[in-house]
Amino acid sequence: MKSVETFRDLQREATEWRHYLHENPELYFQEHSTAKFVTEKLASFGINHIETGIAETGIVALIQGGGGDGPTIGLRADMDALPIVEASNKPWSSKRPGIMHACGHDGHTAMLLGAAKYLASTRKFKGSVALIFQPAEEPEFPTGGFRMVQEGIMERFAISQVFGMHNAPGIEVGKFAICDGPIMGSQDDFDIAVKGRGGHAAHPYRTVDPVVIAAQIILGLQTLVSRRTDPRESLVISVTKLSAAQAYNVIPDRVEIAGTVRTLASGLRDFAEREILASAQGIARGFGADIEFRYLRSVPATFNHTEGTDLAIQAARSLVGSASVNDKIKPSMGAEDFAYMLEARPGAYIFLGNGPTEPVHNPAYDFNDEALPYGIGYWANLVETILSP
Ligand SMILES: [Zn+2]
Ligand SMILES: [Zn+2]
Repeated sequence: MKSVETFRDLQREATEWRHYLHENPELYFQEHSTAKFVTEKLASFGINHIETGIAETGIVALIQGGGGDGPTIGLRADMDALPIVEASNKPWSSKRPGIMHACGHDGHTAMLLGAAKYLASTRKFKGSVALIFQPAEEPEFPTGGFRMVQEGIMERFAISQVFGMHNAPGIEVGKFAICDGPIMGSQDDFDIAVKGRGGHAAHPYRTVDPVVIAAQIILGLQTLVSRRTDPRESLVISVTKLSAAQAYNVIPDRVEIAGTVRTLASGLRDFAEREILASAQGIARGFGADIEFRYLRSVPATFNHTEGTDLAIQAARSLVGSASVNDKIKPSMGAEDFAYMLEARPGAYIFLGNGPTEPVHNPAYDFNDEALPYGIGYWANLVETILSP
């Protein structure tokens, strides 16, 4: 197994790639110049099995090991940026106004390219590595990870295990964090329209006021978590949107409420869908109103498999030592569309320390180039661990 010093030369190159990608960010499913850049780099490393145009702009490239027959493992990086006006003031700031790499996917892409260069030149493994560059991690369903799985990449490339990595601001550079089981939450969204009867605000007794009913519904939803869910389980229900009349003197016909549901267990998604409807409907009917309800299932929980987690821990420890790998991090309630790949194949998702930077999705955030050799080294050691000849 290699220490991080092995990857210092690659760090210099990967830093240039990362800055190029950062200057040229692209939104979901529009990662055309990013995909072209990735494809050209992969070809320049002597990788000749490259498939492009998967889920619009996704790429899968295969590197065959020099150690004989064996399974194929998938390593995944995401390539998309966010609709944010950059305020990092870095020399490599976005050249595309209103779009920026605020989640570090430029770093993820550069690290997988670095690993590709290393693995293509050394090939000290059996079987094959499938490099998965996915579009559109950030948007609403259907995301790029979902679509690549739908388009059959796991079967077509005979991928038996799959691994993902995300940078984590607040964790020191050179450290990793992971846990067995759920590591990121699921994301579902809901819309409730309260249908009352509008009228003049001076005569509320002639209306069925949906504003007051909506207020009761919002408070009622709070008890689904506090009174109805086992406190040892994780469920978040947040109401985030509310719209009513546009005037001081109008009681509207209709009030719209929307929000999001996050959990770590699929059973709680069924519970939330059923009980949000029942609670909102019961409250509305009690006041003589009715509701329209829509529940949109988006990303499932990102669930690390035990064997994949053990292999990921082993690879990270071989790079940075046991003391720098937290193998029992508490799961985050954020959502990650790598979850779809972990539904399709066993494997694991790990956090890579990004140091004391701004949080992701902040306009002043920037991926930390010091983390590059750790990410590259993790991928390299993971392959040489799992596919040891
Ligand atoms: Zn993000
Ligand atoms: Zn991200």
